[in-house]
Amino acid sequence: MNNNEGPEVLIAEEDIRKRVAAFADQISRDYAGKGKLVLVGVLKGAFILLADLSRRLTIPHRVEFIAVSSYGKSSVSTGAVRLIMDLREDIDNKHVLIVEDIVDTGHTLHYLLSLLKARSPASLRTCALVRKSERAQIDVSIDYLGFDVPDVWVVGYGLDYAEQYRTLPYIGILHPREEAKHTPTPGDGC
Ligand code: 5GP
Repeated sequence: MNNNEGPEVLIAEEDIRKRVAAFADQISRDYAGKGKLVLVGVLKGAFILLADLSRRLTIPHRVEFIAVSSYGKSSVSTGAVRLIMDLREDIDNKHVLIVEDIVDTGHTLHYLLSLLKARSPASLRTCALVRKSERAQIDVSIDYLGFDVPDVWVVGYGLDYAEQYRTLPYIGILHPREEAKHTPTPGDGC
């Protein structure tokens, strides 16, 4: 399916909606009776997934944010991850779920898992809407995975290119000719 006004549709809005609803059902079942779950949204890309997921959960939970940067000024990951904004609350003895938009090489999620594990949570799991499995450099476990995508630059549903396209309701492929319309300064991996 193509959208004349924007990037080519890769994952339709309805498919995302169904997948997020399925995540929410599964997570609500898995954490039932375990106390308040802490959802850790990875800024900026996961803000829409986090909002949709959070509103569908039927269990008590609280929302936290963390921000990291992995790409510097390039659209190619160097593997060096930097913490830009930390959690505001302690997570020791809490059940924690990291909510990521996309896992590419795996470096960001690997970094976050090590960082948060050191804070002694009761449990630590991961949820990612999209993974580019062909690009994996580090093996990271994703407990709740939405979709595998090919090695293309995807935008929409929180994901950007140079801060554009985040509010697209679907996930689309940004083709090189569309990138050329914009200043070549990709987002910093947030
Ligand atoms: P990793 O550390 O797994 O290589 O990279 C993770 C981060 O890279 C993601 O959180 C995201 O910010 C960025 N990223 C990787 N691939 C894409 C993509 O296709 N589109 C967008 N918008 N961001 C991406």
